[in-house]
Amino acid sequence: MKTIMETRSVPDYFGSMVFDDRQMRSRLSSKVYASLRKTIDEGKKIDSMVAESVAQAMKEWALEKGATHFTHWFQPLTGVTAEKHDSFIAPSPDGSVIMEFSGKELIQGEPDASSFPTGGIRATFEARGYTAWDPTSYAFIKDKVLCIPTAFCSYGGEALDKKTPLLRSMEALNRQALRILRLFGNTSAKNVRTSVGPEQEYFLITKEMFDQRPDLRFTGRTLYGAKSPKGQEMDDHYFGVIKPRVQEFMNDLNEELWKLGILVKTEHNEVSPAQHELAPIYSTTNIATDQNQLTMEIMQKVAARHGLVCLLHEKPFAGVNGSGKHNNWSMSTDKGVNLLSPGDTPYENAQFLLFLCAVIKAVDDYQDLLRLSVATAGNDHRLGANEAPPAIISVFLGDELSAILDAIEHDKPYNGTEKKIMKLGVDVLPAFPRDTTDRNRTSPFAFTGNKFEFRSLGSSNSIACANIMLNAAVAESLEHYADKLESAEDFEKTLHEMIRQTISDHKRILFNGNGYDDAWVKEATEVRGLSNYRTTPDCMPHLLDEKNVEMLLKHKVFSKAELESRCEIMLENYCKQVRIEANTMIDMALRQILPAIECYADKLSKTVSDKLAISEGLACSYEKTVISRLSVLADQIYDRSMELEKAILKLSDAEDIIGESAMIRDTLLSKMGELRASADEAETIVSSECWPFPSYGDMLFSVR
Ligand code: ADP
Ligand code: MG
Repeated sequence: MKTIMETRSVPDYFGSMVFDDRQMRSRLSSKVYASLRKTIDEGKKIDSMVAESVAQAMKEWALEKGATHFTHWFQPLTGVTAEKHDSFIAPSPDGSVIMEFSGKELIQGEPDASSFPTGGIRATFEARGYTAWDPTSYAFIKDKVLCIPTAFCSYGGEALDKKTPLLRSMEALNRQALRILRLFGNTSAKNVRTSVGPEQEYFLITKEMFDQRPDLRFTGRTLYGAKSPKGQEMDDHYFGVIKPRVQEFMNDLNEELWKLGILVKTEHNEVSPAQHELAPIYSTTNIATDQNQLTMEIMQKVAARHGLVCLLHEKPFAGVNGSGKHNNWSMSTDKGVNLLSPGDTPYENAQFLLFLCAVIKAVDDYQDLLRLSVATAGNDHRLGANEAPPAIISVFLGDELSAILDAIEHDKPYNGTEKKIMKLGVDVLPAFPRDTTDRNRTSPFAFTGNKFEFRSLGSSNSIACANIMLNAAVAESLEHYADKLESAEDFEKTLHEMIRQTISDHKRILFNGNGYDDAWVKEATEVRGLSNYRTTPDCMPHLLDEKNVEMLLKHKVFSKAELESRCEIMLENYCKQVRIEANTMIDMALRQILPAIECYADKLSKTVSDKLAISEGLACSYEKTVISRLSVLADQIYDRSMELEKAILKLSDAEDIIGESAMIRDTLLSKMGELRASADEAETIVSSECWPFPSYGDMLFSVR
């Protein structure tokens, strides 16, 4: 395949499909441009005349690029993005068409909300919903469609998407962080925004393999499959040489993403065979969120062009690592000052320590919100297994920074400061080299020099949910600090005392050790009292805990109705997902696995009679042993399928969605595990010719 890269250099086509600042500046009058920038930078309401001019410029640009349609592009609670295309055409009296696009069409759309999950909001509000332009995220062209990033709400104004609360959470953090900055004498910063760089893991297998696996097609993960003789034990895949076919996919993907203005930067092989990772350069959180959704979509499209399938499920294969997404997060001012960077002066150090403490306090106070923000049926397979961070949320700071906090807490000398007791705002923090902060891969929430890395997200998760909770929780800590500091008589003394108090109150969340260790689970839960919600049904109901509702309402991130609906929808998604898996398992067992076993047993019996016809004295022990074992396994598979079916029917006895999700957690999943065990054993003794699906070995080593 000839790529553009052979003819054009990356800077030439980077962002060519985006209506970005360059386009705005060159296509809009200086007055309109200035007004739009005000909307983008300061959140000023857009004037209808300005919207009209922007729409015209956007349309002209889109038509030049060959676009025929436009869509409001949004992120409903299904977890994927939604779009409804409208063409630009409008009839002209002479029978021809003209291409039209108005300011009104740019600003607002009216998709029917009734087919998207609303979790009961529909019952209390109108079924109609509307989408509203988010001018801070650039419009782009994808498949000849001009896509306008939007938020999606009900007519009652309740958010039906992930973007609306994300923007609200960013605003909440901005409000409180600015208060803190003013207290430190910063009068120039106009805003504080959070930035995210999401590292995205995924698997690639051939389409040929994928098509033969109903489990992958219906659920995104293998529900059966005996272990491959070779897995990841040799550690020969991580950072290994990238295979040519994968490299071609990556080149093509980079090009597509660069055209969309997405700064993908890093690509490498991951731990498991067939597993890879991609990371962009970080950007403002709502843009990073849009771009990550877009990245996941384009990954799948580009893979298809290469005869491959990109698996974004958290756990496509048992026995090898699953896929996650690392959410690298920081806060910075519009002047480019990273508030999580320690800085060089005592003043910067003190401010840094306060923001650091705000995060520590936030993670401890709202462990449950962070945990549930990443909870899905898929991610439950990772968290708590020895490959991803545990379901227990804790913060890793590294030895140096931990020692500094310890010294502050106990007013004792820190080694690096020549045995001097550190005084905040006066002394310079001892330098701590970045690489010592970045070693522990088992921590769910690690400080990595000038940002935190929240590592519990699943590969298919929208990063919106995690960032909503993180921003809101940090806003809450900052508000608490700002309240105290604004009324303080002695700023420095109060600051010092507050930091000391935070460390002492929240040090239980700090943990630098091995998060995979069983001893940690015991210590975390029994000694430190940290929560350990292993599954989605365990954590999701805590969304409605009083302290959480109160905080999220106070910062105007969610309304009560929105929270109730979200809890309902997330649990509904969980139940639906596992139900589909269970039904798929039964279907595969009855219509493919059992017939395959019978077929092979039949072949063997025929061999036995043929052999005995030749010589009556032959033992035929291989055939007989396998036939007997297969007979036992076939009965088990059948019985276990029937039991699973009964368990699915029983789910309708549940009183509500919380009850149903608990039944799934307590009974359905274990029955699925039992059924799988029998089938996987059968796979190891049935000939590969008779087995109806590609094996783990076939799939994991399919791409060369
Ligand atoms: P790794 O975690 O593999 O060591 P890096 O630390 O280099 O890799 O970066 C991982 C991701 O973190 C990248 O997407 C990068 O752009 C992002 N990142 C770097 N600095 C920041 C920051 N200040 N805020 C948010 N994300 C950041
Ligand atoms: Mg990382």
